[in-house]
Amino acid sequence: MANTHATANGSKTPEASGSGFAERVRDAIERRELSLVYQPQADVFTNRLTGFEALSRWRLSDGTMLPPDVFVPMAEQGEAIHLLGEWTLRTACAAAADWLRAGITDAPVSVNLSARQLDDPGLVRKVLGVLADTGLPAANLKLELTETALFSQAAEAREALLHLRGAGIRLVLDDFGTGWSSLATLRRVPVEALKIDKQFVQAMVEDRDAAAIVQAVVALAHALGLGVVAEGVETPEQRTYLQAYRCDALQGYWLSRPLTTDGIADFLAGRPPL
Ligand code: C2E
Ligand code: CA
Ligand code: CA
Ligand code: CA
Repeated sequence: MANTHATANGSKTPEASGSGFAERVRDAIERRELSLVYQPQADVFTNRLTGFEALSRWRLSDGTMLPPDVFVPMAEQGEAIHLLGEWTLRTACAAAADWLRAGITDAPVSVNLSARQLDDPGLVRKVLGVLADTGLPAANLKLELTETALFSQAAEAREALLHLRGAGIRLVLDDFGTGWSSLATLRRVPVEALKIDKQFVQAMVEDRDAAAIVQAVVALAHALGLGVVAEGVETPEQRTYLQAYRCDALQGYWLSRPLTTDGIADFLAGRPPL
């Protein structure tokens, strides 16, 4: 059953309560209401492709798009996040394995991991199982974690991250600067790169303080031996600033909107040779 109800403003929202929402996510997967789009990332200087971030999309049966900012937090309230998380991981890894077979090398896929997924004692087994099933090499998978997730991390979750890192999966700290920022977190977690949140990137050209933060985060990342990716890059000016600050990679509408699998082929065909 389409377990939806009308909210005060008339929009349809699936029930988040209890196991009802997990059931709703299971239905959505079966009916192919859920899909992934992939947003390219590129080298700031050469514009060479460096990977894709997988982003979830949910189209309700009446055509309404439910944004991930809405359904991911709803899923996180219960068990649904584990269904959604596993489906996302499996779908993204299968897509990345297809890209490899099509000769698109150097295109790892980044998957967002919810803080709640770190509490799952079966996480490492599930991730390694997905890699084995899809045939994707571990180095072609990146997991994006938020600061808040890592700040509140239990010892078991840290063990899980070390295990994933040891298996060759790459870990990235997402939305850097927006969470419960703790520089100590950077020393505790085995991440290989930081993503600078788009709020700083987008304010950078107009606002000296935002520019100083972006510049300092790039310097901090490099001093710690980490890579750094700027998200939400929309203009050529922003790219010029990132070049001046020696940021490594960028992601945003300037390069490309998130793409469907078909859109990726067009995007790659339309790019000039390296
Ligand atoms: P995020 O991880 O920070 O992802 C980046 C968001 O910025 C995406 O929004 C992307 O579409 C958007 N974006 C990319 N380039 C630009 C740009 O140039 N300008 C602007 N204004 N926005 C840009 P989206 O797809 O709506 O996702 C929102 C958030 O939902 C993500 O933020 C992530 O936290 C979460 N999310 C999405 N898919 C998943 C998922 O499969 N699992 C989990 N756990 N979270 C997800
Ligand atoms: Ca992300
Ligand atoms: Ca962000
Ligand atoms: Ca995020």
